[in-house]
Amino acid sequence: MSMPHPAQGVFALRYASRTQSERGEHFYGHDAACHENYPIDYFVWAIGRPGDVVLFDTGFSRATAEKRGARSYHASPAELVERLGRNRDEVQHIVLSHLHYDHSGTVTDFPNAQVHLQQSEYDFWMSPAALRGTNPHLIEPDDLDTLAGLLTEGRLVLHDGDFTVGDGVRVRRVGGHTPGLQVVSADTPAGVVVLAADASHFYENIETDRPYSIVHTLPAMHAAFDTLVELAGADGVIVPGHDPRVADRHPAVPGTDDLIFSLSPDSVLTRTELSPVPRKDLPHAEHL
Ligand SMILES: [Zn+2]
Ligand SMILES: [Zn+2]
Repeated sequence: MSMPHPAQGVFALRYASRTQSERGEHFYGHDAACHENYPIDYFVWAIGRPGDVVLFDTGFSRATAEKRGARSYHASPAELVERLGRNRDEVQHIVLSHLHYDHSGTVTDFPNAQVHLQQSEYDFWMSPAALRGTNPHLIEPDDLDTLAGLLTEGRLVLHDGDFTVGDGVRVRRVGGHTPGLQVVSADTPAGVVVLAADASHFYENIETDRPYSIVHTLPAMHAAFDTLVELAGADGVIVPGHDPRVADRHPAVPGTDDLIFSLSPDSVLTRTELSPVPRKDLPHAEHL
């Protein structure tokens, strides 16, 4: 009998942080406290299985962090996969939530991976729409070129809707924040872990029914909140994409300097906060 591999399960890998960040950046619509400090973390997620690792998003590179400034870069996603005790060569599947720069760089660090993305996401960022307004700030052209090359090689698979990545890993297209945003739900012995990525940057987005400030279609952002709750079911847990508070609700993996967290419904410290507020109690209703 072989020993169980130490790094099986679902993990959040905190590869960068930005503390000089304001609340107003993170919620749709102006509010009175918009200038309050509201730090943001950058994560990718690893699902360790006996024979392989599924990586959900690939973050940005150290070079991108230096170019953009203001970001503390802790370690590359590939370095964090290895700190977890898995080899980067074991990453056979990468699911990209969307093509914003903070989710879709460093793909070339994983030479054996097939990459999964929604067709609608790819089409949007390869279209002239990517050049409009503030959109260019949200992408790295070199990273998009890399993906275009992988498409030619057959290593990038473009999907039209929901799919699975082997046993126990399901991908659901939600859109809203971007045209083809997708989220992942993964089975663990203790229940389902729902990885929201930018369908809910922070716990506060879904808990107060207030979408993030970067919007493709607002109704789909609200529908995505509902999808996250549906995917979690009664016993699952939703993990937001950028919230430093993930570190308060899930235990750090020992020896990883608070950069890797083991995600499980069992480890949630404040379960009751995970339910969205009832619709009748929405705080903004009086301001409409
Ligand atoms: Zn995004
Ligand atoms: Zn993001």
